[in-house]
Amino acid sequence: MERPKSKMESLLKLENVTKIFGGGLFNRHRITALENFSMTIDAERPSITALVGESGSGKTTLARLLLGLTRPTTGRVMYMGKDITTLTRRERKDFRRNVQVIFQDPFEVYNPFYKVDHALNLPIRKFKLAQSPEEARDLLENTLRGVGLLPEDTLGRYPHQLSGGQRQRIMVARALLMRPKVIVADEPVSMIDASLRATVLENLRELNRDFGISILYITHDLTTAYEISERIIVLYKGSVAEVGDVESVVQEPEHPYTRLLIRSIPMADPDQKWLGSHTDQDSPFADTLNVAGCKFANRCPHAMTVCVETAPPYFKTATDRATSCYLYEKSPVVDLKDMTRLPDKSPVTS
Ligand code: SF4
Repeated sequence: MERPKSKMESLLKLENVTKIFGGGLFNRHRITALENFSMTIDAERPSITALVGESGSGKTTLARLLLGLTRPTTGRVMYMGKDITTLTRRERKDFRRNVQVIFQDPFEVYNPFYKVDHALNLPIRKFKLAQSPEEARDLLENTLRGVGLLPEDTLGRYPHQLSGGQRQRIMVARALLMRPKVIVADEPVSMIDASLRATVLENLRELNRDFGISILYITHDLTTAYEISERIIVLYKGSVAEVGDVESVVQEPEHPYTRLLIRSIPMADPDQKWLGSHTDQDSPFADTLNVAGCKFANRCPHAMTVCVETAPPYFKTATDRATSCYLYEKSPVVDLKDMTRLPDKSPVTS
């Protein structure tokens, strides 16, 4: 497939994407799952980006849009510079190979009547990844070892005979088999034991470091996002509240919602700096209905009249950070699409 000729090529891109569910003749209840969202995953520079938000924030809708499983109501999802709805058959195959997914519940992905080998052999056959049964076996075993699994402990077993952590690591291996360019990992460690989480996260980090695969890590859990990612996008009710490099967003959160998220992390060490200093307070607009402005106004203790009237734009608070909040209105206004991609070696300046 011919590649676009920009300096930094985009592999996957969402351009001003809005997704609304419902509406129409038989379902008048409309839910805006994602609103005017833009982000880019670059082809040339493997990254780990975390997309964080509570349930209902639009994370899963975003994953489905990126995988082409649902279409945007407005806006476009692009793969290698081309709208994914217009890909040819060959380009779609290329897309399906290069954009892999790891879901939250590995058990759901397996057919309980087949041994786990089946889930691994399927993509080898479908994408003709090996020329002979011997080559297929070598590929399979090497890939399992690549994610720290012993082939003799995993192959020939049924899904229920493996632990949740093993099943999820097989899914990581399955994604790795294809040598994709990006993996969309949707809550990949939320259903496995805490003791195994670190291993799966390390697997994802290795895929990025050793194989040059970009990871979009989707989670409700800020702690694991902090562990694994270099960049973080905080979503609230389908809109980006804050975006920036993970260290500065987590250590010095700007948006009141991000501060709330960080304050909700169970406190292991009361002196730990990153747990924030925000106190419990109600929004002065807690009971205001039909807020036209900031989606967080009903919960925000700092809400002002302007917040309920007009949605805040993105204010660029540092070279690599933007926050959608009037508390930062002295900073220059910036376009979201310039902030939700990794900065080039020469960062974007205001
Ligand atoms: Fe709070 Fe206003 Fe900022 Fe929204 S824009 S987060 S309501 S201060």
